[in-house]
Amino acid sequence: MNLTALYKGHFIDTPTPGQFRVRKDAIAIVEDGKLLSLEREVPAQFSSLPVKDSGAGVVIPSFIDLHVHAPQHMQMGVGLTLGLLDWLENHTFPRESRFADEAYARSLYPLFAAELLRQGSLRSVVYGTVHLESTLILAQALEKAGLIAFVGKVNMDRNAPDDLKETSEASFKGSEEFCRRLAGQGRVRPIVTPRFAPSCTKKLMKELGRLSQRLNLPVQSHLAETLTEAQWVSQLFPESRSYTDVYNDCGLLGPASLMAHAIFLNDEEINLIMERESTLVHCPSANINLGSGIMPLGRYLDRGVNLGLGSDVGAGHTLAMYRSVVQAVQASTLLRILRPEENHRAVTLSEAFYLATMGNGKFFTRQGWVPCGAFEPGMSFDALAIDMGLPEAVDLSPLNQLERFLYAGDDRHIKTRILAGRQL
Ligand SMILES: [Zn+2]
Repeated sequence: MNLTALYKGHFIDTPTPGQFRVRKDAIAIVEDGKLLSLEREVPAQFSSLPVKDSGAGVVIPSFIDLHVHAPQHMQMGVGLTLGLLDWLENHTFPRESRFADEAYARSLYPLFAAELLRQGSLRSVVYGTVHLESTLILAQALEKAGLIAFVGKVNMDRNAPDDLKETSEASFKGSEEFCRRLAGQGRVRPIVTPRFAPSCTKKLMKELGRLSQRLNLPVQSHLAETLTEAQWVSQLFPESRSYTDVYNDCGLLGPASLMAHAIFLNDEEINLIMERESTLVHCPSANINLGSGIMPLGRYLDRGVNLGLGSDVGAGHTLAMYRSVVQAVQASTLLRILRPEENHRAVTLSEAFYLATMGNGKFFTRQGWVPCGAFEPGMSFDALAIDMGLPEAVDLSPLNQLERFLYAGDDRHIKTRILAGRQL
């Protein structure tokens, strides 16, 4: 295969977090799904090919959601003022238990995949439920929508309602079978998914750690989202030095590990995360909705921690990652305003945009995918064409158009979605 396509537009990306890179009126030459180069003019050897022109709008890397719960899609916005543990008990667990019914999964998961696509999140890392077959249905729905994703069957062998609680043995076997059935080089691949330390025994987590190492699979979980939960973990695992150390003890902390939230970490824990090269996933929408706290994102960025960004639907109330970008800026700004004595800094819009594209893309690259998240030669051509449809007289620069889209745009302004060179 040697398919070449040409796209013309104002290309904006963030190969580094510090600033947006704008290339006006450029021509992207895309071959076999990868960007060959960005040129000023159409090179002579391609002059016979048609050029797809995105017009006055801008072209940006498509979004990546590094933390999202598919079964919670339909409960977005429901009961969010309860706080994490009550919200789980009253809304999330009862809903998740309904996915025992495969017909229910078959009716809802395609809607989740369609919404990811509509919002321009063409890659994602997704939680299913404890149910093996339903979570495979979720993987099929994402595959069918043409999306790239990691999907995890959730593990819970304690502190869960009876209809979601598995035996340690069944939980492990279920994950092993899930990973085996989803293994391969397809667009949707498995990820080991202990829900969070309070709902898993150490025995189960150790087995899952060994499974991820044996099959060379990534891991996702939650870490230090609220103080109440962190205190609970210290009671459940008195022998561990910290919450982070619980995962480390179980072999679940490595370069392929995603830990969502990580709001309440001490210095020793941050050092351990950095030593293990694990990635912390910031989910500002969920953190504010549930009143959990605010991750010191600027501080983590300055220390060089691997970071990503997630919608965390349904605690987050939208699958639109452009909203998460803005929420990351807003949350860090609030932290600076509210706790001046701690010298927090607000992150910039380019830093937050970087996380949702290039930063999150690094996780896929580390798992062996073609690099993605920016418009660099050799990278997967993952792109969204954005057009705010403003009157010509408004005359916004390409960068101002992107800013306006991130803050005030929506899916109606996403005109084209391209993943690995393929228009979806
Ligand atoms: Zn979550």
